[in-house]
Amino acid sequence: MVEGKSKKRPVLPLSYEVERIVAKKECQKECDYWNTMSDHLSPLNELKFRDVIHVVKTSPIILNRQSISETEVAFSLGLSNNFLYQLNDAVAKYSLSFVSILNSQCNHFQLIDCERLNSRLKNLCYKILLEIKPIRGGQRKNYFLKHKSVTIFKHELLNVKKIQYTLSELDKEKVKLEKRCRDLFEQLAKENEHAVIISEQNLDIFTLQQQNSYLADRISKLEEQLPKYKDDKDFDQLAPKTQSRTLKKLETDAQRALWFSNTFGLTPKCLTMTSTKGKDISLNFQEKKCSDFNCMTLEDQDKIMKLVFLMDRLCVSDAAYHELTMVHNDMPRSYLLVQCRNGVNKSFEIERLPGNVPGAVINISSEIEKLLERHVNKHDDVNQVYVKFSGDGAKVSRISNFVFFSLSNASTANTTSFQEQQTFAIVECSENHESLKKCCLPVFNQINNILSREKWHIAGTDINVKYFVSSDMKFIQLLLGLGSCTGEYACPWCKVSKNERSNLSFHWNFYHEPSIARTVEEIAQEAKQNKKRFGCKHAPFLNLSVDQYIPDELHLMLRVTDILLRNLINDAKDLDSDLKLKRLPQTNLKKLTELIQGCEVAFSFLTNKAGELDWTSLSGSEKVKLLNQLPDQLLLQDGVIRDETRNDVVSLWKDLLFLYKYINESTDCGSIVLEKNKVWVENFLKIGSKFRNGYNLHNVTPYMHCFVYHLPYFVENFGPLKKFSGQGVEKNNDIVKQIHQKKSNKWDSAVSALTTRKRLEFGYMNNMEREKRSYFKKSEWWDGSLKIFRSGKRKEILKEISEANINSRTSLDFGEMNEHDLRAFLKDHGINTKIRNREKLMNLVSSNCLYI
Ligand SMILES: [Zn+2]
Repeated sequence: MVEGKSKKRPVLPLSYEVERIVAKKECQKECDYWNTMSDHLSPLNELKFRDVIHVVKTSPIILNRQSISETEVAFSLGLSNNFLYQLNDAVAKYSLSFVSILNSQCNHFQLIDCERLNSRLKNLCYKILLEIKPIRGGQRKNYFLKHKSVTIFKHELLNVKKIQYTLSELDKEKVKLEKRCRDLFEQLAKENEHAVIISEQNLDIFTLQQQNSYLADRISKLEEQLPKYKDDKDFDQLAPKTQSRTLKKLETDAQRALWFSNTFGLTPKCLTMTSTKGKDISLNFQEKKCSDFNCMTLEDQDKIMKLVFLMDRLCVSDAAYHELTMVHNDMPRSYLLVQCRNGVNKSFEIERLPGNVPGAVINISSEIEKLLERHVNKHDDVNQVYVKFSGDGAKVSRISNFVFFSLSNASTANTTSFQEQQTFAIVECSENHESLKKCCLPVFNQINNILSREKWHIAGTDINVKYFVSSDMKFIQLLLGLGSCTGEYACPWCKVSKNERSNLSFHWNFYHEPSIARTVEEIAQEAKQNKKRFGCKHAPFLNLSVDQYIPDELHLMLRVTDILLRNLINDAKDLDSDLKLKRLPQTNLKKLTELIQGCEVAFSFLTNKAGELDWTSLSGSEKVKLLNQLPDQLLLQDGVIRDETRNDVVSLWKDLLFLYKYINESTDCGSIVLEKNKVWVENFLKIGSKFRNGYNLHNVTPYMHCFVYHLPYFVENFGPLKKFSGQGVEKNNDIVKQIHQKKSNKWDSAVSALTTRKRLEFGYMNNMEREKRSYFKKSEWWDGSLKIFRSGKRKEILKEISEANINSRTSLDFGEMNEHDLRAFLKDHGINTKIRNREKLMNLVSSNCLYI
C-alpha cells in the first residue's frame, strides 16, 4: 500500500509505531492535543476514516507549483471527499487542527502540524462543502467516493530516525529510572518500618512518662530545693569569714554530691579546687570527728531510729526528751533524733491540698506498691489482692475536724490491724460534700487513676488488684453523692424508700437486682436533673461500682447498739416517771448507770444545752463490753426495764452479739445469712408490737436494712466481712487524734499529723516495735481477781470523794448562810423548793438529815 519514490526515499516500515513516537514528542502541547483527540474520536469514527485514507503515487500534474523540485516531495495522500467533509465537522467540533486529526487516523506516518498543510486541508474542505451543496441522492454518494490528493513534502514528515534515537535514549533513561524507583521504594518500605517502630517506642515512652509523672514532679521539686550560691562575687573577692562559711557549706554539699562514689566502695577523702586567682583550696572530708547521725554506726543509728519511733508512738515531745538528756548525760543528744527524723521525713513526698485549709496527701500509687510488695513477700502464690480504701471523719478538738483517708490490704482477715493501715491523706475540714469537693479533689483524682489500673507488676509477679471502699454509711453516702441517713432514699446500695425498709418479705438478693440496685452512672445522671430523685444530690466522687462499697461491720454494730441502748434508757426513764407519779424514789436510771459502769465502761448521764437527758458516747470496744456483759446483768437486776419485755430485750442484745461475730466469720450463702439477720429484726419489731416505743417499723434504720438485705450479698460474694472491718481505721484515727493533740504543730496540723503517722508506719513496717516478752496469762486473775481489784480500787476512790464531801459539809455553817445559799444547798441534795422563810428552810435541812 505504501509506495513512493523508493529509490531516493526510505520506505516507511509497516509496523512502525507512530503513536508511540508522537506520544513521546517533546512538545507537550502536541501530546495534549493527541490525548484529547483520542478521547474524543470513538473507535467507530476511526474505522470510518481509516478506509478513506490512502497513499497515492506522486503525480507532477497534481503539483501545481513548478518551483518545487520533485526531490522535496515525499508522497501524495489520497483523501476521500467523504473524509474531508467529515474532517471539517471534526475540526469544528473538537477545535483541533486539521493535521492533528489526520495524524490520529494514520498508523504508519505522522505529519508535522505546519501552516501549509493545515491551509491546504482547510481549502479542500471548504471546496467540498461548496461542491456538495447542490448535489443530492446517488450523485452525492458517488461524489463522496471520489478522492482529493494532498502532496506531502519530506520536511513535513516527522523525522523518524531522530525520534527513534530519542526513544532509545529515553528507554535507557527509563531503565535507570525504574531501577531508581525500585531502590526508592525499598528505602520507603524500610523507612515505614522504622516509623512504625518509632511510633511504638513513642507510645511506650508516653506511657512510661505518664506512669512516672509523679517522679518527674518530685525531681522538679527537689531541684527547687538545691542550694543556691551567690554568683555575683568570686571566691577571692569574699571576706575571710564569708570564705570559710562558703567552704563549710561547699563541703557539706560536695559530700552529698559525691555520695555515689560509695556505691563503688570508694569514700572520697578530699576535694582540691583552684580559685580564679590560682590559689589552691582543698577540703578534707574526714579530718574532723563527725557528730552527724549519718556518721554513726548502723547499730547506733538503729537505736536512734527506735527512739524516734517510741517518741512518736507515745507522743513524747522534743522538749520532754531534751530535758531528760539534761538529767542523764549518757542519753543520745536530741539533735541526733531530730536529724534522724528529718532523714525519715525526706522519704515521704507530702503535698498540700487546696481549699485554704491544712491538708496533706501522699502519693497513693507508691503506697499501693508498698502494700503489694509486702503481700508478695509474705505470700508465695498470689494473683489477686483486695485493696480497701477507707475514709472517715473525726473530731480531733473542740473546734477542728479531720477527714482521714487510708488504705489497707483486705485479702486476708489478719491484715486488719491498725499497723497495716496506710494513711495517705489528712484534711482539716468538716465531713460534708462541699468541703470534700473543695479540699479533696486531688485525692479523688489520684484514687480514680488507680481504680482504672487493675494489673500491677511487683517484684516480677503480675498481680490483679480489686478495689473496695469500706467505711461508715455516712462516708459512703458522701462519696456516692447521696443524701444523709434521714432522707427518704438513704440506702447507698439500693433505691428502697423509708417505708419499704421494714418490709422483710423479699429474698436475699432482691435489693441487688438491676431494677432497684443503684449504679454510679445512674446517680451521676440523676444528680444532673433538676428533680433529684432517689436522694441523688451530687455526682459520685469515685469511679467505682456501687457493689464495691462494703459496709463496715463495726459501725453497723455500733449504730444498732446505739438504738438498743437508747431504748433501754428510755425504758428506765419511763419507769422512773411512773415512780414519780406515785411519789416513790426514782431509782431505775441510777441502777442502769451502775449496771453499765459495772461492765467497766465509763458512763454517765448529763443534761445537754437544750435541757434534754444525754449520755456519754461509747467507743467500739466499750460497746462490745456492753454486749458481752450487760444482758446477763439486766436479767439479774430487778427493775431498770419493764418486766413484760425483759426477756425479749435481753435476747435481742445477746443475738446482736452473736450475729456480729457470725457475719465476721461466716462463709454461708446469702440466703442463710438473710434468714438469721431477718429473725433478729423480726424480734426487734415484735417488742414494738407489745407497745414499747423505739421498736417500731419506723425505727428500722438504714443500718438495719443493710444488715438484713445487703450483708448477705457481700458475705456471699466476698466471704467473711472481717477483712473489711473498720476497727483498724478507727484505731488509726485515734492515734492521729492523739498525735494532733499531743505532738503536732497546730498551724500545720495536717502535714504534721500525716508525717508523724507515716513515720509510725515506717516503724511498724521495719519492725521497730519491741517484741513483747512472753508470759503466761493466769486466767482466774485476768477474768476474776483483776476485775475485783479494779472495781475495788474505783469504789475506794469514790468513797474518798464522798467522804471529802461529808467533811466539807460539817464545816458548813448554816447560821451564816442566807436564804439563797440554803435553797442552792437543798437543790444540790435533790430538794427543789420555793420557800423563802429562813426558819422553814432550816427545818427542811434538819428534817432531811442533811447535816450531822
Ligand atoms: Zn438497700
